[in-house]
Amino acid sequence: MGREGIRRRELIAGGMAVVAGGALTGADGTLAAEGPRSRRSAGGRLYDVAVVGAGLAGLNAARVVRDAGRSVIVLEARQRVGGRNLDHEIAPGKVVELGGEWAGPGQDRVLGLARDLGVRTFATYSRGDSVYFRAGGELQAYSGGIPPVDPVSLGELATTIAELNRMATSVPVDAPWTAPSAFTWDRQTCQTWISENISSPVARNLTELAIRSVYGEEPKQISLLDLLQAIGSVGGDLNTLIGSSQSIRFVGGPQQLSKILARRLGDAVRMGVAITAISQGTDVTLHSTAGNSYRARRAIVTVPKTLAGRITFDPPLPPALDQFLQRQPNGSVVKVNAIYRTPFWREKGLNGSATSEVGPIRVTYDNSPPDGFPGVLVGFMEGDDSRAFYGVGRAARRRAALASFARYFGPEALRPIAYVDLDWAREPFTRGAYGSINPPGVLTSLHDPTAEAFGALHYASSDSSALWSGYMDGAIRSGEQAAAAALASL
Ligand SMILES: Cc1cc2nc3c(=O)[nH]c(=O)nc-3n(C[C@H](O)[C@H](O)[C@H](O)COP(=O)(O)OP(=O)(O)OC[C@H]3O[C@@H](n4cnc5c(N)ncnc54)[C@H](O)[C@@H]3O)c2cc1C
Repeated sequence: MGREGIRRRELIAGGMAVVAGGALTGADGTLAAEGPRSRRSAGGRLYDVAVVGAGLAGLNAARVVRDAGRSVIVLEARQRVGGRNLDHEIAPGKVVELGGEWAGPGQDRVLGLARDLGVRTFATYSRGDSVYFRAGGELQAYSGGIPPVDPVSLGELATTIAELNRMATSVPVDAPWTAPSAFTWDRQTCQTWISENISSPVARNLTELAIRSVYGEEPKQISLLDLLQAIGSVGGDLNTLIGSSQSIRFVGGPQQLSKILARRLGDAVRMGVAITAISQGTDVTLHSTAGNSYRARRAIVTVPKTLAGRITFDPPLPPALDQFLQRQPNGSVVKVNAIYRTPFWREKGLNGSATSEVGPIRVTYDNSPPDGFPGVLVGFMEGDDSRAFYGVGRAARRRAALASFARYFGPEALRPIAYVDLDWAREPFTRGAYGSINPPGVLTSLHDPTAEAFGALHYASSDSSALWSGYMDGAIRSGEQAAAAALASL
């Protein structure tokens, strides 16, 4: 595709810096939007279930409710569906993913949903060598999954993964606080454990990098017990979190899953409805910023936990749930896509994967469409690397991102035909990525009260799923479970 194939345009929407043509968001014009003329009062229609949020958890919850023959309304704050799934069109039928992207073996729900909805998948490009960039400036190509580090560090890495996997076997994924060593593991951070158990600086650095790439957050902020639960939640192997979970992509992007589900739900999905207050009496009343209210017999809240804690509840949430929601911060991630006329790194025998000891982008992948044109590199600024750009302009962020790509793949990376990134910490209806984390002490002192209904209120989110927690797959599972619980209580 030539340069003229992509209209040059600079737009900023929230935290998104876009230098490309195509639709900014996946807003589906056929969906109903809230406005003065759609103003409803609490005396309006009583739905069986109201769902707050049209991400994968919310839309799948609504699908289950609708399939059970019950009435449902989905209230979404943004003018688009998909939540943490957002695809940006770079050419007709071709997108880059700004949010959720990959699936992997074992993620049966998201792969099954894609099959049901007719969304095809393809393998992440992996032919050729990966590259490893050392702090001293040395770049080395390698094959296989593990960077070419010295034998001592390699041995420590293998021991680290085996030891974390062994510890995870004793952590119940749906109740990690009941593990025999829960208190010991919950009072330390992942960083403390790394410092006490890994002596090689290289192995330490790579373990920190792995944890950062799972959470988008620094290991010093995350409870070790949370990490062990996360390992259990994907089947018991840390390698799955950092490896095969990135092996499958969706042709046309995963936001399609949400768009198709929303289309099927039709005018049950209301856009631009930000819920600020929820009261429970004989039934549930949900109040929006525009002053409208919606009534339902049950409600399923699917907004990220930190945002759930900002909704005003009447009666107030039970103290354990309220305290828990006060302690569920999201990580911090800028996801970057640089678009090139061709995937030039492939001609050098490289597969587009880089692992680096130096930021701000330490992990990259080839993110080209299935036919390889245009060429796309994707990278992530995570945790402190992303925070370093909070006070800096968008142009500086772009320069730093491209400089990272150039270090790994050559000077051609400095001249993309388009560039698009999204700072998820600036998104008012997400507030960080990839999802929420448990700081030390939270799981053992408060457990996870979101699993229990509070009166007529249920909660669902990828971040509260016992299986594939933090993944699209977990969002679907969580939405389905909350819908089943809400239906059973009707
Ligand atoms: C950069 C990035 C990369 C990722 N990569 C992957 C990946 O490769 N693979 C993978 O499986 N997962 C990935 N994830 C995670 C995955 O996208 C999420 O776990 C999943 O999409 C979350 O779904 P959800 O429905 O639980 O929450 P969300 O998608 O966050 O949906 C919540 C919805 O609630 C809405 N909302 C918020 N506040 C209100 C309010 N007050 N009133 C009404 N509506 C409101 C939001 O707008 C949103 O639509 C990634 C996420 C990010 C951000």
